[in-house]
Amino acid sequence: MFLKNIIKQTNNNLSPIIKQFEAVVGKKWVVKTKAELLTYECDALTAYRQKPSIVVLPNTTEEVAEVVKICHENQLPWVARGAGTGLSGGALPVENCVLIVMARMKQILEIDLENQRIVVQPGVINNWVTQAVSGAGFYYAPDPSSQIICSIGGNVAENSGGVHCLKYGVTTNHVMGLKLVIPDGSIKNVGGKIPEMPGYDLTGLFVGSEGTLGIATEITLRILKTPEAICVVLADFTSIEAAAQAVSDIISAGMIPAGMEMMDNFSINAVEDVVATNYYPRDAKAVLLVELDGLEVEVSTNKERVAQICKDNGARSITSARDLDTRMKLWKGRKAAFAAMGTISPNYFVQDGVIPRTKLAGVLEEISALSQEYGYEIANVFHAGDGNLHPLILYDNSVEGSFAKVEELGGEILKLCVRVGGSISGEHGIGADKNCYMPDMFSEADLETMQYIRQVFNPDGLANPGKVFPTPRTCGEAANAKVQAFKGVDVF
Ligand SMILES: Cc1cc2nc3c(=O)[nH]c(=O)nc-3n(C[C@H](O)[C@H](O)[C@H](O)COP(=O)(O)OP(=O)(O)OC[C@H]3O[C@@H](n4cnc5c(N)ncnc54)[C@H](O)[C@@H]3O)c2cc1C
Repeated sequence: MFLKNIIKQTNNNLSPIIKQFEAVVGKKWVVKTKAELLTYECDALTAYRQKPSIVVLPNTTEEVAEVVKICHENQLPWVARGAGTGLSGGALPVENCVLIVMARMKQILEIDLENQRIVVQPGVINNWVTQAVSGAGFYYAPDPSSQIICSIGGNVAENSGGVHCLKYGVTTNHVMGLKLVIPDGSIKNVGGKIPEMPGYDLTGLFVGSEGTLGIATEITLRILKTPEAICVVLADFTSIEAAAQAVSDIISAGMIPAGMEMMDNFSINAVEDVVATNYYPRDAKAVLLVELDGLEVEVSTNKERVAQICKDNGARSITSARDLDTRMKLWKGRKAAFAAMGTISPNYFVQDGVIPRTKLAGVLEEISALSQEYGYEIANVFHAGDGNLHPLILYDNSVEGSFAKVEELGGEILKLCVRVGGSISGEHGIGADKNCYMPDMFSEADLETMQYIRQVFNPDGLANPGKVFPTPRTCGEAANAKVQAFKGVDVF
């Protein structure tokens, strides 16, 4: 809407605005041809597509601030983008928007081992952080499965999780401070290197705000000492219920594994077909992967306790590994699970909901019933320890109307999560995908309170409009948004 006004004012000629961006970042870093813009029309939720009008790639905080200022002065909506691996359409462009891509800002600015801090630019890839400090015996704990491709800026915006977040907490527990560009183009600092800043926790507020409050341009992270010992235990079960009970029993016994992941029979066979780990028995109804870390004595004791609990719950076999090579082999199937689905089905839709751990078995049964009712296979690969489910719904997008049905099925799964006391997102965010389910979880007053906060930072609604909160443009409509930006208007 905003940019259409500008288009009218400029007689369908965007050149003045493009020139302003080029003056800030350089001609090379403003993308405007139709073919190049296609690269940016979606994130990893590829069913939703919308071409941006202009893409700008700044290289410094000051450049980000200037770009946002131009958007503010011209009332242009904008969307920040990291590596574009988001699964909820957070970085999906909105119609007629400027997409501000952080991929050039990929420097590690400071490593402070003594205080266990590292300061990075937002385009730094998640696992570069661990790579930068592992030689000195440190690591960065939040480890999304996408960690070799996703950026820290995106992790901050989505409050990303990962295998090790059961014990160490999600991204918000590791972000100490932020340099931000807020939607009027001014630069602010929140938090810092010290652990508990007085006053409002604005760092905590920003983490998970999905690009609706501003752009993080410098991020101070906490790094941890590499544990003395690590052991991975793999157990296979003849029923999901038994595996789920083992998960509850391990936690009830007072242990908090570094990670505790489960895969169902469908997923086991998919990964064995594709990566052939030969560790996951094809006839198992579930495999459980438990990673233990800490002091040597603690890991040794807990390994025995975990194995015993799994046996008590009917595990058929237990395999464990201490050395890195075998540990990686045990994890290989879990890490390759999403990719494996891509080889057995033309398309898949990843859902992300949370349930209380104790409800795992019942909820998986209900998901299986929904799978039969809708006629789509669902593979379950998930963070069992924190009840974060990732049902992967397999479908063929070339079949007319299939995605609409898959979306409906995904929605039913989210409603089920809420019904049993859970949540509509564990780690992938709300974005454009799940905003219509926010009222299933929050009252009108809750949502209004969140909107007040959004308006303090983003009073003109220019930062990532239409995301997170429900709008008249619902999930289904977003899925069908094939409208090209600048319909009928040629940039050149
Ligand atoms: C195969 C696969 C596995 C995955 N596994 C996991 C997993 O285990 N756990 C998990 O949590 N997620 C997972 N994800 C989802 C995704 O990788 C994460 O959400 C990740 O944090 C997104 O980072 P990104 O750099 O790609 O961000 P984008 O997708 O580019 O953007 C995500 C959001 O962040 C905003 N944003 C980006 N940069 C900034 C910035 N500098 N300042 C403010 N806002 C910004 C965008 O506007 C958008 O709303 C997975 C994705 C894939 C494809």
